[in-house]
Amino acid sequence: SSSMPYALVILPIASPKLYTYSIPDVFLDKIKKGQRVVVQVRNRLYTGIVAGFTEEKPKYEVKPIEEILDSEPLIPENYLELWQWIADYYMCTLGEVYTAALPSSLRLEGQHTVYPVETDLKNILLTDIEKEILAAIKKKPLTLNNLQKKIGVKNIVSFTKSLVEKGLVRIDQVVENPFKPKTQKFVSLSPEINTPEKLEQTINSLSRAKKQTELVLAYISLAKPSIKNPNPLISKQKLLEKVDSISAYQALLKRNIFIEVEKTISRFDTKFEQLRKINPLTPAQQKAFEQINTLFEQKDTVLLFGVTSSGKTEIYLHLIKQYLAQGKQVLYLLPEIAITTQIIYRIQAVFGQKVGIYHSKLNDSERAEVWKRTAGMLEDLPPYQIIIGVRSAIFLPFKNLGLIIVDEEHENTYKQFDPAPRYNARDVAIVLAKKFKAKVLLGTATPSIESYWNAQKGKYGLVTLTQRFQDIKMPQIILADTRLGQKQRKMHGIFHKVLLDEIKKTLEQKQQVILFRNRRGFAPYLECQDCGWIPKCKFCDVSLTYHKETNKLVCHYCGYTIEAPRRCENCGSFKLRLKSYGTERVEDEIAVFFPDAKVQRLDLDTTRRKNAYAQIIERFEKGEIDILVGTQMVTKGLDFENVRLVGILNADSLLNYPDFRSYERAFQLMVQVSGRAGRKNAQGLVIIQTAHPDHQVFKYVIENNYTEFFKWQIKERQDFSYPPFTRIIKITVKDKSEQLVNDFSKLLAYHLRKHLKHRVLGPEFPLVKKVQTWYRKEIVIKIEPKLSLSKVKKLIINTTNQLKQRENYYRIFVIYDVDPM
Ligand code: ADP
Ligand code: ZN
Ligand code: ZN
Repeated sequence: SSSMPYALVILPIASPKLYTYSIPDVFLDKIKKGQRVVVQVRNRLYTGIVAGFTEEKPKYEVKPIEEILDSEPLIPENYLELWQWIADYYMCTLGEVYTAALPSSLRLEGQHTVYPVETDLKNILLTDIEKEILAAIKKKPLTLNNLQKKIGVKNIVSFTKSLVEKGLVRIDQVVENPFKPKTQKFVSLSPEINTPEKLEQTINSLSRAKKQTELVLAYISLAKPSIKNPNPLISKQKLLEKVDSISAYQALLKRNIFIEVEKTISRFDTKFEQLRKINPLTPAQQKAFEQINTLFEQKDTVLLFGVTSSGKTEIYLHLIKQYLAQGKQVLYLLPEIAITTQIIYRIQAVFGQKVGIYHSKLNDSERAEVWKRTAGMLEDLPPYQIIIGVRSAIFLPFKNLGLIIVDEEHENTYKQFDPAPRYNARDVAIVLAKKFKAKVLLGTATPSIESYWNAQKGKYGLVTLTQRFQDIKMPQIILADTRLGQKQRKMHGIFHKVLLDEIKKTLEQKQQVILFRNRRGFAPYLECQDCGWIPKCKFCDVSLTYHKETNKLVCHYCGYTIEAPRRCENCGSFKLRLKSYGTERVEDEIAVFFPDAKVQRLDLDTTRRKNAYAQIIERFEKGEIDILVGTQMVTKGLDFENVRLVGILNADSLLNYPDFRSYERAFQLMVQVSGRAGRKNAQGLVIIQTAHPDHQVFKYVIENNYTEFFKWQIKERQDFSYPPFTRIIKITVKDKSEQLVNDFSKLLAYHLRKHLKHRVLGPEFPLVKKVQTWYRKEIVIKIEPKLSLSKVKKLIINTTNQLKQRENYYRIFVIYDVDPM
């Protein structure tokens, strides 16, 4: 609490400053840092967070705090510090961090709500729509949004305004808290009935009320009262399922034989009857486990570099158990939840109710429940001890965090691309851990160049696991040369004969195949054979992808969709040709070669429905699918028993991105997808189709030689001044006018170059220069360690803001991305 007169408030608005509000006397001894408050901005109500206090009176007139929403701070002090760190480091506002951090039902904006006013309607003329509105709000006041939905007219505001003028309704702004913990009613025998004798007396006293007797007997059979525990609670619903008589139930409540209580319950349907024991570790795993613990005595972060299927997850389980035993909480970060059901299952099977799961597919109340439960803010529900979550889980308010596991630390999905804050959860996890004096374990079979470098430099501890569980051999990897294949007539459509032969053999052995192609759709583009015309997106500078199932052309950047044209829009020719191929075509064509095989596709298009991903994986596990064709989705965290063969189609497309990380990504992808092959007593096989078999990346993939790959890449990074030898800030200039984007980015680069010289690259168009009608140009700044990063950031922000004050430029968007991926 504070006696200072002004509160500094974080609002979900992209303005860099904190807002100042006066504190009414009644709130003076209640208000605390980290609480949510309701305040007004331009006549709108917002939920803000108290970030601090000041005695300085601002020049403008200050408004008062309207309301305090929490009795205790919702955001602990150390998280407010973390927010500030994120805002500074990633060059965004606290408001943007706030918006990303809190589930939306915990940060409401004011809703204009329409209330009826009691009057005599007789002499007032009403239109039909006005009558409809009055009828709609008669039962319950509605927000303007909901009212609009209900009535189905566009200009609901003008209709309600006319009703206000007629004195029939009033509009008020309210901030309602839609997050209500879910509750359930429970029942028990009254505490006085605490001996078998009294119970018998009670039953005898009911002799004539047959239904009531039945209910008490049903209670006894469900609750099984004992001398030690004479009045256990059971669910009211369960009891009434046995004896369906609400009137008898109510009679028993009235007679004080039954007592009813309401308790908060979880929205998650969690029933873990039998928890599994953790597997004992193998000697190699045990050694790694001990090394991790030893290293944690000196280092805050340890990199666990273990080949695919070495049992990293088993080691995580043992670490989690150890930290739980010390009374600590554990955060387990995964790159994507929807496609990691196997791992979630493995952790829940051991730790049951202690595990909370946090990701974007939860609905808002579920998110809010997990949020509050992590901090132990929900009555009746014990705080979660383990959270499995995606990147936004770093914002959950842990009380007593001991360990953060960042699984698949190399994954670029840890980085948020859009909107701000453009943070990398792996890196923020390390900052978060410091605040708790907690430890961080980064796990992967293919470390990012940065993390491995940090391990080499001694900044992180390093633990290596080179053996797969049960000594399953690493798969054999061979290249299929597609260019040579063309000459030798060994290409059958998009498949090399070597691959087809091995698929055939694998199917004959009743084993499974995974085919990987990093593009979805049927064909990435359509081309007129006569004039070369290619259908492009109306809003983006990209060609449209052909989807055969729907016979549509789709933009993979903005979703723009049209019927596939039958003739060229330029010359009228009917000779339109499908170029290149995506997963849909692979699925289609492989089925031609193996008509008896069960083929299934796993990509964004086949997994849009809830649970679709899990269902496909389950069918594959059960052997109901022979050939699984997919995008990156097939590379992640999967563990199958019966996969002999993995085919990587068109590996060249992985190598052709103009990005300093493209070889790193290609290596990671190929090693990860290869890791799905191989079983007990049988080596798996990987076939990579490429037109450039001499490319160096393949050599390291085939030899499974990460360390040599790393040496090669780290030298390139050093020679060309890329991370980890520099830090990169990418500035994207965005506007609907190409001219403005060109002019402004040129001007900005020019001014930055005055100070930063050769460190400024560009401006240049990105790979796709227009997305959703917005043109973009990028400036890249490379900053070597001897330069102060924070000074450079200030310079960039000040220069941009100054230039934006010039006429024409005030509306242009400038986006900063620190450590872009
Ligand atoms: P990684 O996470 O390194 O890819 P996993 O932990 O998924 O490896 O292990 C691969 C497979 O081997 C899994 O099916 C796992 O259950 C099994 N496994 C690994 N270690 C053990 C162990 N110590 N006891 C029993 N099964 C194990
Ligand atoms: Zn044409
Ligand atoms: Zn588009």
